[in-house]
Order: sequence, then structure tokens, then C-alpha cells
Amino acid sequence: MTVIGFIGLGIMGRPMAANLLRAGYSVVGYSRSEAPVVELLGLGGRAATSVADASSVADVVITMLPDSGDVEDVALGDGGVIASAQAGSIYVDMSTIRPDASRRVAEAGQRLGVRVLDAPVSGGEVGAREGSLSIMVGGGRHDFDDVKPVLDAMGSTVIYVGPAGAGQTVKAANQLMVAGIIEAVAEAIVLLEACGIDIESASRVFQGGLAGNEILTRKGGSMVARQFDPGFRVNLHHKDLGIVTEVARQAGVTIPLGAMMAQLMGALRAQGDGNLDHTAVLRLIERLSGRSN
Ligand code: NAD
Repeated sequence: MTVIGFIGLGIMGRPMAANLLRAGYSVVGYSRSEAPVVELLGLGGRAATSVADASSVADVVITMLPDSGDVEDVALGDGGVIASAQAGSIYVDMSTIRPDASRRVAEAGQRLGVRVLDAPVSGGEVGAREGSLSIMVGGGRHDFDDVKPVLDAMGSTVIYVGPAGAGQTVKAANQLMVAGIIEAVAEAIVLLEACGIDIESASRVFQGGLAGNEILTRKGGSMVARQFDPGFRVNLHHKDLGIVTEVARQAGVTIPLGAMMAQLMGALRAQGDGNLDHTAVLRLIERLSGRSN
């Protein structure tokens, strides 16, 4: 049986690990806090006491951590994934981090015979729970083919997009678009409300035409209801927009909307909303419009 070491059992990692168990894999979990590891035990998983413990027994190691620094600590440090994993095993980092950080981890893996893939995800907590994530994978093509059945247990769209770091570059473009669409939906809702228009009727029109989009379908209702429990935190999207602007700078590309969204997400965070869902951008538009309560 394939043994999977799963490190980082947060909002996303917990349901992803649960889906691996459901698909029949043996999962050894490790996270900084104890509660999600105990929860994994209840679902039939095993508990590891350290990163090295989870990595050394696994055929496939998966990390789902907040940021580039966290992944580099866990992957590259003493007792980290690369130093502890068995030669020939596959390490898949599914966090959203900088492409250059992913490439550094891949190079370290290559030196010690650990096959590294970057495989960030889109689809949020609901996608993680339903096993319907969109997964974009960078690294070696054969390594991708070998680990695809594992990824299929967590996602319904699992696509190889290029060499090491390519998964993160695609994710950066994804996050640029998601931020821009949230902004457009938030502005439209605040505008329609200010004009006294019924949002439900307007949404039905949008969804039948060119303005229809997934943010409106999945999150329009909670935005109108001002329910901003995360989901995907403002803090994380702020981090991602930092990646987006840096990737664009390195590529010599100008992204006016991406840069503006990085600023707006930063403002929302500075105003104390960092732990709300990223759709709380709507609160910022309300404040800018003098309509906050
Ligand atoms: P989270 O903060 O809920 O989970 C991260 C987990 O990692 C926490 O349980 C934390 O305790 C653990 N952790 C941190 N450092 C650790 C370490 N050194 N060793 C062991 N465990 C450690 O974050 P999340 O929402 O699950 O997001 C994880 C990643 O997935 C991020 O990169 C995020 O950008 C990305 N992502 C999130 C969503 C979403 O909707 N939440 C969607 C797509 C992608």
C-alpha cells in the first residue's frame, strides 16, 4: 500500500488528507498543532511526531503549508523532508509559494534523489472537501505520471503544466484572475445595492450572459449576506498577490490590475480584516464608498 506523509493539516490539508484515506491510502500526518493530527487518527490515519518521522516512512510526501518560508523550513531544514525522505520517493508541495522557492526545493531534491513536484491547488475549502480541486503541477513529467493517482484522490482537474516552478507560475496567474473577479463582483454588488436593485434578479441575468463567473456562483450569496468566515483568508491572498507582482516583475510584464489588487488586499489587511475570507474586499469597497456600517 502507498504510504503518504502529509504535513500541514490546516483548512486545506485536513480535508485533502481525509480524501486520501477515503481513497484507500495509508496517511501519516504531521502538523504544528495537535488537534488536526488527532482528528486524522479518528479517520484511520496515523500520527507522526515530526517532519522527519512523516517523511522517512512515506512513498509520497505532501506539504500544505502557508508560505514560501514555511515550505523552505520544512523541506530544506535539518530533519526536513528532503533530508529525511527515502531516495526515489516523491515529494509534492501543494502550498502556494514563490516559483523560485519551488525551484530551490526541486534542486535540493535532485541532489539527494528525491523527486520533487510543485502542485498548488485552486478550488478552496469546498474543493478540498469534495475532492474536486484543480491541481497544476510542475516538475518531471514521469514523476507526475507516477503520482497522478494520488493527486486524483484530491482533485478532479489534475494537469501537468511544465518544469519545476511552472505549477506555481500558473497558480500566480490564477490568483491574479480570482482577485480581479472578486473585485468586480464586490463593486457590482455595492453599486446595485446603492441603486436599490434586487441582487438576486441581477445575478440571474449575469449568470446567463458574459458577466457570469464562478465567484458569483459560489460566493455571491455569502458576499451579499456579509458572511466572511474563511474559506481563503485575506492574509493568504495578500501573500499570493505579492507572488504575482514579483513574478510579473521578474518576467518584465506590467500587470496594472494585479498591482492594484495587491494594494487593495494590503489595505484590507491593514484595516484588521486579514483573517476574513478574501471576498471581504466588498467591505473595503463599502468603506471607500462611505457605506460601511
Ligand atoms: P492554514 O493556515 O489553514 O494551514 C496551514 C497549516 O500548516 C496549519 O495547520 C499550520 O499549523 C501548519 N504548519 C505551518 N507551519 C508548519 C510547520 N513548520 N510544520 C508543520 N505544520 C505547519 O492554511 P490553508 O488555508 O490550509 O492554506 C495552505 C496553503 O494552501 C497556502 O499556501 C494557501 O495559499 C493555499 N491555498 C489555500 C486555499 C484556501 O481556500 N484556504 C485555496 C487554495 C490554496
